[in-house]
Amino acid sequence: QFESVGFIGLGNMGSRMANNLIKNGYKVAVHDINCNVMKMFSDMGVPTKETPFEVAEASDVVITMLPSSSHVLDVYTGPNGLLRCANLMRPQLLIDSSTIDPQTSRKVSVAVSNCILKEKKDHWEKPVMLDAPVSGGVLAAEAGTLTFMVGGSEDAYLAAKPLFLSMGKNAIYCGGAGTGSAAKICNNLALAVSMLGVSEAFVLGQSLGISAGTLTKVLNTSSARCWSSDSYNPVPGVMEGVPASRNYAGGFASKLMAKDLNLAATSAKEVGLQCPLTYQAQEIYTELCKDGHESKDFSCAFRHYYSGQDE
Ligand code: NAD
Repeated sequence: QFESVGFIGLGNMGSRMANNLIKNGYKVAVHDINCNVMKMFSDMGVPTKETPFEVAEASDVVITMLPSSSHVLDVYTGPNGLLRCANLMRPQLLIDSSTIDPQTSRKVSVAVSNCILKEKKDHWEKPVMLDAPVSGGVLAAEAGTLTFMVGGSEDAYLAAKPLFLSMGKNAIYCGGAGTGSAAKICNNLALAVSMLGVSEAFVLGQSLGISAGTLTKVLNTSSARCWSSDSYNPVPGVMEGVPASRNYAGGFASKLMAKDLNLAATSAKEVGLQCPLTYQAQEIYTELCKDGHESKDFSCAFRHYYSGQDE
């Protein structure tokens, strides 16, 4: 249904997602504030646009993949933003795949639904926004195996599904506006807490005389088995091909985990919920970043927070 796709935010994730759309035959136009990345795309023959507004003018659907809420607000509602021509805008669908707080997702969704379409197509009376953050890091973005968690109108989700499946292998509809963002921060808070729990268990186990290899066998055949123990073990040498076995290089950076925990903690406070493990995990990841480990994979908590033994 959608032929021309605008893509804004061509960083570690966005550049790979845009490439997969191109490989799948979509007509893609791009924008980023980083001139180097714009040149890289223009050298590949991809049309580059100077502003988000110009992307909107050229596209049926626009996807954004930006660092944080303030960047998303800027790209949507800034002076040359996607919604500049609110009374006659071109794209029917706007998809934000950035990890941001659900409140901002809902605010942007309302701003989009107050706009009017330049050309009404099929059953699209008004432009629609979906919040569709992703799970899976740079490797999954490259391989086209991301999971999208999607909030907004279900009809729009169904219309956008072929786009999601050009960049990922799963797309899950979560409910109304903001629920995709809510799912993403809940997933990452559970992941952070499980990683810290597994790290703590290994540090204690080793101090009590159990080898990491043996404890791994026990956990992975017992009730504590989880992704952090059986697929992404934080103890160096226990598993091959995970960040722990290459000095925590690559993977999902501690600074991104700290960012996501801040979003979860802020959201919990806003709804008046007690989330002590979220706050504790937030403190640990903030401390890891302050200690200079912000670019290391988040499983580095095992060594740099619990074991305290620097390289
Ligand atoms: P990144 O910093 O590598 O890329 C962000 C891009 O946005 C950059 O190229 C930057 O120049 C561009 N940008 C910033 N402000 C802009 C603006 N006003 N207009 C146009 N372009 C602008 O970040 P990333 O790692 O690609 O992550 C993007 C989003 O995906 C974040 O919200 C992140 O939390 C989320 N995420 C990242 C990962 C990961 O492993 N990296 C995994 C899942 C989700």
